[in-house]
Amino acid sequence: MSANEVPRKPDGKFYAVVLRRADFSHANVAVRGGIGGADLVPVPDFGEPCVCCDGDAAGRTQKVEMTSPGGHFHADPVDAPVCEACGDHAMERTGASLMAAAMLCVSIPLSLLGFFSYQMPAIGFGGLALTAVAFAWVARMHNARLAHTRGGHYPGLSLLVAPRQCVVRTPNRALAERVVARNAESVFRVR
Ligand SMILES: [Zn+2]
Ligand SMILES: [Zn+2]
Repeated sequence: MSANEVPRKPDGKFYAVVLRRADFSHANVAVRGGIGGADLVPVPDFGEPCVCCDGDAAGRTQKVEMTSPGGHFHADPVDAPVCEACGDHAMERTGASLMAAAMLCVSIPLSLLGFFSYQMPAIGFGGLALTAVAFAWVARMHNARLAHTRGGHYPGLSLLVAPRQCVVRTPNRALAERVVARNAESVFRVR
């Protein structure tokens, strides 16, 4: 099996196609902060069909955010083909996921501090309430995606970037194969 072969996975599991520029090096990844710019990141070619249902996108596109997992680095959003029917669900809401994660980072320590350090249950309960909201939010995003993952729809495309690297995450195997075929020169690995 070659490194560029797309594995088979059960429905709903994500594929990740890692694209790297020829000048990628780990030293560059350590550089973070305001050095974004599309010229630094390999911009994936998604092909023509809809990234969610593989139907005819009829020239319609949607912007895909390009953010690093921690949100430290980002590049200009890129266009991906999305048909009319998939307009409301094709993309993973990276911003919302990151925000929910950030909420958890604050709310959990807050509850612990409130209950144990400050002996101030009000702060503790506030933190707990915030944690519950964040978990409910994550669960809702997850369920909304699963509800759409049927009948040949594979919502949840997202792009995670680092300087000179772009990871295309999608549960759509056909899309993963298109990305591999159309970006062959920059595919680093597929999983
Ligand atoms: Zn579609
Ligand atoms: Zn769809």
